[in-house]
Amino acid sequence: MTKDNTLTIDGAVVAIEGERNLLELARKANIDIPTFCYHSDLSVYGACRLCLVDVAGRGVVASCSTPPEPGLVVRTHTPQIREIRKVAIELLLANHEHACPTCPKSRSCQLQDVARRLGVSEVRFKPALKNSPVDDSSPSLVRDPNKCILCGDCVRMCHDVQSVGAIDFAHRGADVAVVPAFGRNLDDVECVHCGQCARVCPTGALTPANDIDDVWAVLDDPAKVVVAQIAPAVRVALGEMFGQPAGAVQTGKIVVHTDI
Ligand code: SF4
Ligand code: SF4
Repeated sequence: MTKDNTLTIDGAVVAIEGERNLLELARKANIDIPTFCYHSDLSVYGACRLCLVDVAGRGVVASCSTPPEPGLVVRTHTPQIREIRKVAIELLLANHEHACPTCPKSRSCQLQDVARRLGVSEVRFKPALKNSPVDDSSPSLVRDPNKCILCGDCVRMCHDVQSVGAIDFAHRGADVAVVPAFGRNLDDVECVHCGQCARVCPTGALTPANDIDDVWAVLDDPAKVVVAQIAPAVRVALGEMFGQPAGAVQTGKIVVHTDI
């Protein structure tokens, strides 16, 4: 490491090794900066404003869209930045349905997680929820606009990575929303049901459809012989979920049990 290619984050000297932005550099140094809209495999959007950091001599900047430069002195959790993040979360919560116990994302919701970590215990802003209808037209996904925080992750995933473009931003100002093309239901557009938008959605705004009640109904039907078939990708996806190397095949190790 030479002095010429380093910068300082929260007092730690960190080498710049091709990282695209300060957020990636901070992650490399195991410094956690919250963000909803940054994914290394998606384009930089800079919408959520949670990843702000203080750069000496420059002030507060978004770390996701600030390239690392030698000599920078960066602080990631100053009192000012913590307060800005708290206000951002409160504004999101003022527009967000508060039905966490019944939300499918309840235990994996990033909004819930960041709010808890920042110690947000009240929302000082007037609720502005529009009570939009839930779109459950798709066989694979449920779209609940009342939980959307407009991070744009799903839009970029669908357009940039999946090359489909089934969902996009519509309208302006306070009316801006993420919707399927032409404001239709998801089942009426060219969605290919890949589920990648739900995978990156940080809240319960896009979630996989839940068919568990239908499964129980056939399991409880004595007149039916039930045969289960899983999608091919599950063989490797389950392995990754349990810490196996990417691509490790789990055939013969998958057991379905219904004791719940
Ligand atoms: S399921 Fe796939 S194709 Fe459909 S909206 Fe989501 S990312 Fe796009
Ligand atoms: S649906 Fe989810 S991923 Fe898409 S903009 Fe809303 S919160 Fe973000």
